[in-house]
Amino acid sequence: MDPVRDTYGRPLRSLRISVTDRCNLRCEYCMPQEDYVWLERSALLSFEEITELATIFASAGVEKLRLTGGEPLLRRNLDRLVLLLAQVPGIRDLALTTNGLQLAQHAAAFRQAGLQRVTVSLDTLRPERFTALTRRTGHQRVLEGIAAAQAADFASVKINAVIMRGFNHDELADLVEFGRAHRAEVRFIEYMDVGGATRWSSAQVFSAAEMLRILAERYGPITPLAPHDSAAPAERYRLPDGVTFGIISSTTRPFCGSCDRARITADGMFFRCLYAHDGTDLKRLLRAQVAPDEILATLRRLWADRADRGAEDRLALKSRAPLFRVEDLKANPHHEMHTRGG
Ligand code: SAM
Ligand code: SF4
Ligand code: SF4
Repeated sequence: MDPVRDTYGRPLRSLRISVTDRCNLRCEYCMPQEDYVWLERSALLSFEEITELATIFASAGVEKLRLTGGEPLLRRNLDRLVLLLAQVPGIRDLALTTNGLQLAQHAAAFRQAGLQRVTVSLDTLRPERFTALTRRTGHQRVLEGIAAAQAADFASVKINAVIMRGFNHDELADLVEFGRAHRAEVRFIEYMDVGGATRWSSAQVFSAAEMLRILAERYGPITPLAPHDSAAPAERYRLPDGVTFGIISSTTRPFCGSCDRARITADGMFFRCLYAHDGTDLKRLLRAQVAPDEILATLRRLWADRADRGAEDRLALKSRAPLFRVEDLKANPHHEMHTRGG
């Protein structure tokens, strides 16, 4: 399928589908507030509506789908959605990002339904840090979720770890060792000033360059690897002993130039960039019975007009502060990372 290309020639190849804005954790870098304005439940797309949209996106060139949220496993019977999406013509990669809390109960069913890859977020190996970061308990359950994912034999299980200076930057090597022991590639993520990160400060960003320096001091020379996929957000590296890891350096070394990712929220808003201020309400079109071909034409037009390079624009700013104020996020929860899907 020849994908539609945007103003910079970037193809539309991958779609992140947020299935819920709710979450059972309150990570400091994502949901630091005490209370949130939630999407109306009646506004959430049904599994059939999500599948219909995914089919239209696939007709525009999308080959890769990732389920995310909020916490996607809070959506009941998610394996039914996996089964539907696995059958969408043109989709060759179906993945999930989860905080892992409920993964142990569902990993085998997801695999059976056709899920190919799983990424589990695990920022710390220390239970007390987990509780401080997420304001919830459950570290052990996340570890059990990772073990269950390994047992379910996915094509890959990866670990996402957001690294914050002064919180967990001393755990880089421990996380690499955890990945080695559990056959899961770790991807270190720079703390991003996305919507929702209302406590973000540049002082807390631990840069990719610093991560590489610390790991090289510990392990010796690190070799950059050619990417499996030139549009993948993570740069991959190999340690002298063969262990590989990735770094997602969205804050200090953004990779907008190769970005092929679109997003839809659980209520069907389409965003062309993680940092975009405005989206397009695809649910309205679906529920008004607009023909799929017309929705496809709208989608192609929107992508062809895409000029977003959000992370690069942020980097170019002289002084950086959180992207949105709390009042703005409450007025429009679509700006939240947990609504938009990471
Ligand atoms: N709840 C699921 C989870 O945590 O894996 C899926 C949704 S979460 C929004 C997706 C990813 O975004 C997670 O790996 C999370 O660590 C990352 N994330 C959230 N806020 C971030 C921030 N401010 N900077 C960098 N990564 C962030
Ligand atoms: Fe944490 Fe993911 Fe929930 Fe955000 S959506 S608070 S990153 S678990
Ligand atoms: Fe893509 Fe926007 Fe992220 Fe840049 S900031 S990589 S354009 S989603």
